[in-house]
Amino acid sequence: MTTPSHYQPSLTLAKALSITLFLMILANFSFAQDSSTAEIKSDSLDKLNGYTQVYYFSPGHQARAKSIADFMENAGRFFQQEIGFTPQATLYILAPQHWKSIAAKPLQEVYGFPHNLDRGRLVIAAEDNDFWRSFSPPFDKLPSPMATAVKQAYGKPDGSFSMMPFFDLLALHEMGHSYTGQAGLKMHRHWMGELFVNVMLHTYIAEKEKERLPALEVFPNMVVGSGTAEFKYTSLEDFEKLYQTLGMGARNYGWYQCKLHSAAKDIYNAGGKSVLLKLWKALKEHQEDFTDEQFAIMLGKEVHPSVANVYLNWNK
Ligand SMILES: [Zn+2]
Repeated sequence: MTTPSHYQPSLTLAKALSITLFLMILANFSFAQDSSTAEIKSDSLDKLNGYTQVYYFSPGHQARAKSIADFMENAGRFFQQEIGFTPQATLYILAPQHWKSIAAKPLQEVYGFPHNLDRGRLVIAAEDNDFWRSFSPPFDKLPSPMATAVKQAYGKPDGSFSMMPFFDLLALHEMGHSYTGQAGLKMHRHWMGELFVNVMLHTYIAEKEKERLPALEVFPNMVVGSGTAEFKYTSLEDFEKLYQTLGMGARNYGWYQCKLHSAAKDIYNAGGKSVLLKLWKALKEHQEDFTDEQFAIMLGKEVHPSVANVYLNWNK
């Protein structure tokens, strides 16, 4: 597949996204142990009361903290209803001055990444920031249907753009890993580990906060729509082999994530919200090892054909 020239501007976005995801995953894999043993000093932070999860925030950011907490709690209520499980998590909603001492090591200089310190602690930025602003699309160069979509998803009233709506949703993706990790699901494949939390995220947004669907969909659409010509690795086999070392490189990893966001959308659109519970149950129940073929057959029979199709039709 070749890269259509009108998609060139989005490649910058793809690059920025892939760096984000690269660092997020790096935090998950390499630095979790490091930070899980260290107690976070939260004395300089304020705390929200009356929520299921624990929310610490930098003084002065109570409104923002409440809005993030409300989003996470609403999603939590939905997931409790749908899958009957709520993990225990602590979220840190931080201003730049607190970010450095709490964020995972490789992210301390990159204010703005939502990421996990371990299975139960998430770090989120309280303020819009240069990193998010660096994602602002080259609006003048986008074809007009895409420009309209981008404006609807990420445009601000003053005419500028912010990727905050997208990053706020990624926080729920990260929270999803706390669900699967704490509930003891066996994900079988790395692609399923990432797909599952994207299915959680997409299902919640589509069911309960439809107005945020553009923020969730437009960015991955742009990246996937730009084609695969410049990516060395595009197969699921390569994804499995290279996932833990990020051997495919940051940009290429970003492309995979966008494909998996797109796959989650297709699954929801094909099977609705009930797929989430079926997939949750199947991954909880099936702790045995599967070959790729056995895994796809189980997913097709016990969950939904659209989930098996992520594997079966990946290259189509
Ligand atoms: Zn993830």
